Formats: sequence, structure tokens, C-alpha cells
Amino acid sequence: MTILILGAGQLARMMSLAGAPLNLNVVAYDVGSKKIVHPLTGEVYSTTLEDAIAHADAITAEFEHIPDDVLTLCCNSNKFYPGKAAIKTGGDRQIEKALLDKTKVACAPYQLITEKAHLELAVEKLGKPLVIKTCQAGYDGKGQWRLKSDEQIDTIWAEMADFIAAGTEHAPHTIIAEKMIPFDREVSIIGARDKHGNVAIYPLTENEHTNGVLTLSVAGLDNSRVEQQAIDAFTKLANALDYVGVLAVEFFDVQGTLLVNEIAPRVHNSGHWTQQGCHCSQFENHLRAVAGLPLGNSELKHVTAMINVLGQANIPTEVLATTDVTSHWYGKSVKPGRKMGHINVSADNLAQLGARLAELSKLLPEADYPGLLTMSQSLNN
Ligand code: ATP
Ligand code: MG
Repeated sequence: MTILILGAGQLARMMSLAGAPLNLNVVAYDVGSKKIVHPLTGEVYSTTLEDAIAHADAITAEFEHIPDDVLTLCCNSNKFYPGKAAIKTGGDRQIEKALLDKTKVACAPYQLITEKAHLELAVEKLGKPLVIKTCQAGYDGKGQWRLKSDEQIDTIWAEMADFIAAGTEHAPHTIIAEKMIPFDREVSIIGARDKHGNVAIYPLTENEHTNGVLTLSVAGLDNSRVEQQAIDAFTKLANALDYVGVLAVEFFDVQGTLLVNEIAPRVHNSGHWTQQGCHCSQFENHLRAVAGLPLGNSELKHVTAMINVLGQANIPTEVLATTDVTSHWYGKSVKPGRKMGHINVSADNLAQLGARLAELSKLLPEADYPGLLTMSQSLNN
């Protein structure tokens, strides 16, 4: 079988690697160059998008910001999963919030903004500080403002007005202001749903973000207090979208109550640990779902931490000498802060995981790998 993936980044690459043992051949469409490419080598094929669609057995996406005409072409083939509505929901915070409201899944209180009066209303209604986000663009914390005092309203509005003015009638630009949630921690749930509505949900993951970017995830902690809330939210959202594939839902944990932060209609960085932590990774389960194959086992096999490698040209080779450490490299050119790869660390139990992270923190400095040392200490206590 051949699977066409819209997007040719690391997620397509890891799906390609996961698909090979299943005899699934993955090709990628690079949305920037508009070329069909090999997801591992980058080799450019002469195939057109139309031909690739015709030859694919199933089509999916590795990100949400896909041109509308490309999405429509793929949907018209009736082979595209998880479908246009799901991709649009993940790519537009306004549509996402509407789905959360419709399904009665709790999220951060918000106010949509298309004019200055709405920003003032948001300050009055939600209080300060506010997290302000563009609805149709932004990832890794980009396209966001933090409003802490009334004096910032004019400057922030000036920047927001530029974004709003760049929208068109067919592709309007909107902004959303959210209450700044005083969360205790961030968690996410990743799960796969197949064409018959069966689901395979992975254990809840705890996530550390630094400056809006994921730096560290840990799976296997005791999350019994909140896990069912996450599963319920996942189930409601996946069913409402008649979802096929892997869906990720990120939450704020506020004293044992989960509020959705955002939804990603794709494999997700906070699910990379499943490559070593589970029998069937999120990448394999996504392919299984869209290809119409039975879902694989999503139970925890080993407690596992995932460390993002951001803006580094390589990792010290000694890292690989630590027991049960796996490196996943994305083959991209290095840029400051860019996601270059990740390191998965597995263990038999949390104390052993803490000890392994402590070993790694001697090789991976805090400035480049924030949160690693603190996590190792908290696991050892
Ligand atoms: P990505 O898609 O890469 O996850 P993003 O650019 O879509 O990132 P968000 O997930 O919305 O951005 O926000 C990034 C981070 O900023 C969150 O993980 C959280 O740490 C913080 N943040 C976002 N919204 C809020 C909020 N309402 N209250 C408190 N913190 C927030
Ligand atoms: Mg996020």
C-alpha cells in the first residue's frame, strides 16, 4: 500500500520509518516546494500531486496549515483522513473553540477579537494577564502575545491589527484572547481511532514547555487523578469529528481539573515517547488507522521520557552509552531553536528513569535541555 502524507517534515519521516515493517510505502508532498518527495532522503519525484493522489491508497497530513485547494483535491479522492473538518479545526483556534463548546469539553475562557473594542472587552471580562494568540497561524508559541497591563493594549493592538488586516474575505484572520491559566502542569493525551470507531489511547503524558516550545515529556507517571477526564475529552472530540487517525489533545492541569489548551489532528511531539514506550508507536497507529488496518497496542511497555533536541547540530555520543537511550534525528539543517531530533529514555520504573535522566543531565546542559535536571530530581524523590 502507498500512503501520501501532506507535509515532508520529521513527522512524515517518522511515519515512513514506522510504515516500512508493515509494507506501507510512504511518500510526502512538500507544501512549500509543491513537490512529491521521499520522506527520508528528500529525493524529489517527477510525479504531480494529482498523480500521487491517484496512486495513493490513503492520504493523510502531518500538519494543519495546508492550502485549501490541496485539501479539497485530497478530500475529493475520498481517501483523505482524518478529513478536512478535522484539519481545519486544528488549524484555526476559532473553529477549535467552537468544537470544544459544542462538545462541552472545558477549555481556557476566551474572547474572539476582530476589533479593538473586543480586546478591551477581553481585559474586562477575563482579567489580566491574558494570552493572546492568532487563530489561523502559529506553532511552538509563535504568533502569541502576553498582555499584563493596560498600558500594553495600544502596542499589542497595533501588531494585532496588522495580522487581522492581512486576512481576506475567504480566509479571514482572527485573534483569540485567553485567560492566563495558573496551571500546575501541562499534560496531553494521544490516541488513534479507526474507521469503525475503535480507539487505542496511550497513557497520559506530562509535558514541560520552555518559552512556548515543548522540551520534555514523561509517560508512566501516576496520573490516576486526571486520566479519565483526558480520555473522556479525547473520546468526545474524536467522535464529534468522526475522526480517523491519531489525535492529540493538550491540557492544563489546574488542581486536578483538566482544561483543553489545544487539539492537534495528527501525530504529536508529546507522543514521540511511544516509539520506545509502547508496542505500537503513534506513527504506526496513525498509518494503521488511515490504511484501514487493525489498531496496535497502545499500553505502556516502559516508562519513557522524551527529550527534544532544539537548535543543536548533534548530541554528545556518550548519550548513547546510557542504558535504554534511543536517538531520533530528523536530518534538517541546524537553526537556533529548531527541532533537530529527540532522545527517548526508557526504564523499568520511575526511580530508574530518574537515575538515567540524572546521568544524561551531566551530558546535556540545562541551558540547552531545560527541565531535564529538575525532572530527574523529582523522579528520584
Ligand atoms: P504548539 O502547536 O507547538 O503546541 P502553539 O504555538 O500552538 O504551540 P499553544 O500550545 O497554544 O501554542 O501555547 C504554547 C504554550 O504557551 C502552552 O503549551 C503553554 O505553556 C502556554 N500557554 C498557552 N496558552 C496559555 C494559557 N491560556 N494560559 C497559560 N499558559 C498558556
Ligand atoms: Mg501547543
